[in-house]
Amino acid sequence: MQQHADQYIGGGWRPSLGGGALEVRNPATEEVIATVAAGTAADVDAAVAAARAAARDWGLTSREERLAPLTRLRDGLAARQQEIAETIVAEQGSPIGFATGVQAALPLLVASSYVELLAGYEFQEKIGNSTVYAEPAGVVAAITPWNYPLHQVVAKVLPALAAGCTVVLKPAEDTPLVARLFAELVDQAGFPAGVFNLVTGVGSEVGAALAAHPGVDLVSFTGSTAVGRSIAEHAGRGIKKVALELGGKSANVVLPGADLGRAVNVNAANVFANSGQTCTAWTRLLVHQDQYEEAVAIAAKAAAKYQPGDPSSAETRMGPLVSAKQRERVRGYIRAGVEQGARLVVGGAEAPDGLPTGYYVQPTVLADVTPEMTVAQEEIFGPVLSIIAYRDEDHALEIANGTEYGLAGGVWAADEATAAAFARRMDAGQVDINGGRFNPLAPFGGYKSSGVGRELGRHGLEEFLQTKSIQF
Ligand code: NDP
Repeated sequence: MQQHADQYIGGGWRPSLGGGALEVRNPATEEVIATVAAGTAADVDAAVAAARAAARDWGLTSREERLAPLTRLRDGLAARQQEIAETIVAEQGSPIGFATGVQAALPLLVASSYVELLAGYEFQEKIGNSTVYAEPAGVVAAITPWNYPLHQVVAKVLPALAAGCTVVLKPAEDTPLVARLFAELVDQAGFPAGVFNLVTGVGSEVGAALAAHPGVDLVSFTGSTAVGRSIAEHAGRGIKKVALELGGKSANVVLPGADLGRAVNVNAANVFANSGQTCTAWTRLLVHQDQYEEAVAIAAKAAAKYQPGDPSSAETRMGPLVSAKQRERVRGYIRAGVEQGARLVVGGAEAPDGLPTGYYVQPTVLADVTPEMTVAQEEIFGPVLSIIAYRDEDHALEIANGTEYGLAGGVWAADEATAAAFARRMDAGQVDINGGRFNPLAPFGGYKSSGVGRELGRHGLEEFLQTKSIQF
């Protein structure tokens, strides 16, 4: 079993100042596969001090000086794809196919996009008698979750480093191993000491200390809306910039005339991928009342293709959830849905047949869901699809916009113009039309309680910049 008692601070691996250990479990076997350092506020102090000490010099480097180590980091990610995928299978439970094709491949795509963007980005412009400089925001605290454990690290750390910021990363306690692998790659890429630092530990201790630290200039957080709110409160007191990528309850709206079969099958793939642990998942399928039972039947058939199983097998399309805590949370939502009157079409709160061990949940389809039910309002973060009937387009829009969230959505229609007009009226940061593909260069982030700020592409880089104008 791997045992790691160190943190990556100031350009090297140093013993954690806490001395405690956190267990990392394989969610498919429930076995402890590693321990990592349970960091403390003292580790955070050391990491922030290292990041502060490095910030001025790194912030004044040229684009080319940053591009060299960033390119080596991208190449390191490319060279270790297989190991990255296997690490994520072991600590997070993604099936190997998804871990390879998405969990490992997406960070590489995003890293490559930042190498290209940095190479062409203009950090200054002339406005009249002023030169306006885009300068780094300073020391960044990056706090990341476990559902896409490397992607969310790369989506924050790469643009921050490209912008000339220095970083302290606190990964989720359930998935520290891939974060440590990332720190090894940063180390090998040859960034100056202190530019990147990693502190593993528990959110309420390390995360909270980092977010509130006076030496941090910007907090970039992905996770629950509850924690995001508390981070924003602390940041408000310290006048820190925040970028928050929070929960979602996204609606996929199928308008009359759309290809219903395709819309529902794509929705199933979307909501059952990664065992439903995706912030942008279309967890609410909205169909016209005349097509309702047809849609329910298609969804039931589609769900059968996602029977959970061993994530290390290439055949498996759905693995376990990340932890016992998440499994219980999701099962509680399924029970609440049925208690409030939803019809259980497939799935349920019991463990799937033949899988007594592991944090598995059955792919579940709930019909007769009404907009005010808990399962239609709260983020479940599991393989649960709620199907809701609407009367007409305005009713569909009212339901789609009727939650506190506004992260993503889908619209299906006979023609793109109709779908786009509907999408423009949705309170959501990104909407896919007729199954439009994910674009790693497009801004990613939420409306309403789904967050503030944008990640990915140019917008993601600019989150980590601040503006200075000098008049001549
Ligand atoms: P959290 O929001 O608690 O965790 C996200 C990150 O924040 C982790 O690194 C966590 O550390 C850290 N953290 C926890 N508490 C604090 C704090 N007080 N100050 C600073 N950082 C903190 O999510 P959970 O893992 O508890 O998941 C609960 C629910 O959140 C999910 O069911 C889902 O609904 C939502 N969620 C949404 C995500 C998204 O992509 N938008 C991602 C993950 C969860 P630690 O791991 O040690 O707790």
